[in-house]
Amino acid sequence: MSTPSTAIGIAAAVRSGSMSAVDAVEQSLERIGASDGDIGAFLTVTASSARDEAAAIDAAVASGSDPGPLAGVPIAIKDNMCTRGIPTTCASRMLDGWLPPYDATVISRLRTAGAVIVGKTNLDEFAMGSSTENSAFGVTKNPHDPTRVPGGSSGGSAAAVAAGFVPVSLGSDTGGSIRQPAGLCGVVGVKPTYGAVSRLGLVAFASSLDQIGPFAGNVADAAVVLEAIAGHDPGDSTSIPEPFGPLGAAVPRGVEGMRVGRITDLPAGADPDVTERFEAAFDALADAGADIVDVEVPAFTYGLTAYYLIAPAEASSNLARYDGVRYGHRVAAPDTDAMYVATRTDGFGAEVKRRILLGTYALSAGYYDAYYGKAQRVRRLIADDFARAYTHADVLLTPTAPTVAFEIGAKSDDPLAMYLCDTYTIPSNLAGHPAMSVPFGTGADGLPVGVQVLAPAVGEATMFAVGAALERAMGAQR
Ligand code: GLN
Repeated sequence: MSTPSTAIGIAAAVRSGSMSAVDAVEQSLERIGASDGDIGAFLTVTASSARDEAAAIDAAVASGSDPGPLAGVPIAIKDNMCTRGIPTTCASRMLDGWLPPYDATVISRLRTAGAVIVGKTNLDEFAMGSSTENSAFGVTKNPHDPTRVPGGSSGGSAAAVAAGFVPVSLGSDTGGSIRQPAGLCGVVGVKPTYGAVSRLGLVAFASSLDQIGPFAGNVADAAVVLEAIAGHDPGDSTSIPEPFGPLGAAVPRGVEGMRVGRITDLPAGADPDVTERFEAAFDALADAGADIVDVEVPAFTYGLTAYYLIAPAEASSNLARYDGVRYGHRVAAPDTDAMYVATRTDGFGAEVKRRILLGTYALSAGYYDAYYGKAQRVRRLIADDFARAYTHADVLLTPTAPTVAFEIGAKSDDPLAMYLCDTYTIPSNLAGHPAMSVPFGTGADGLPVGVQVLAPAVGEATMFAVGAALERAMGAQR
């Protein structure tokens, strides 16, 4: 019998006793050991605790108890989620050597569901970037072409799934950091509704935008992981109190009679190879019985500008806590003020400093109304425009990113070019809506292209039904 490679397959085999969790975890560790030297997806591999946890799951199965829906499933975690006693660096020198005293809520939920954490993955420092090149600990390479970036900021988690190291992983998405690397690495990536997944223990970047979500090799696996981590958490005041509907059941539902919106005023800029796959996605959904309808979302195009004021503003406040006193790095200096300056100058990389400067400026007296205040008004317009569009359509479709994976170094000296990677993903964060990227064939140089499915708040079930229909259409095309 061939060993299962999907999360659902592994969990079923482990629960039934036909495969051990120890074997599932060993296989993952072996692959990481053999190839992660070339990819650089992981910052920390937790081999020994993973082996112990897998053995405990096998013991539970042997004693007749059910370890849960992710029994024995190896999973990788973006290194900006707190793991008790396991380094959590945010790919920053500032947190090098810091050991969190507690687990993020998503981590305890994964453990309750039987998943086994095999390591922590690389990211752009504090999740600021679109290529994972802003890590203080080295670049991650795209498993489809090691001269290219995996996207970012959750590039390590996307690459870990694309390389076959783990069936599933977690990332965080503030402006596209799950969906864009999913698109560039040819895997599924989901940003849930704001408040669907607890942010307790996620190191804050921009608190009103940050959400944790899964990467997976297929839509059904992403649904199982999201079901395991979602749900109310009294420890996160923005967590949605209502239970999250079952998502797995939505996967086979189909799109018959569903209204799929085409945004007529979508910002231009996607490459022709990406546009071609995006058009093919509409055709596939129409073939599967959906109605394609035109909608307008006029403020969509201003999302990027608003985001690059709101996100840095929140970041400048959130990152004030790294002062050399409470966390990680400290550079000694004769007095406290000098210590703050020396520590922050040395501990933060260039992009993080740029965000802090931008955000501090946008919030400063005299500029607050013109920049931060105006960006907040644009955010309101985007939410209103989406609300109007969703009276005509059940979901909307866009490309995930304007291009396929680019060469390492191609955009590192041009922050604006890097920011433009997120044109299509940012509006969902500003509105607090769910969105997912589903691989939909290949573009230039045979590299993966992702299509993004957007849905209204708590519209995850419909979104997964559409994502799965795209996946089935691709299976048919293969
Ligand atoms: N690339 C965007 C940024 O640099 C989004 C990052 C994210 O979603 N964490 O801010």
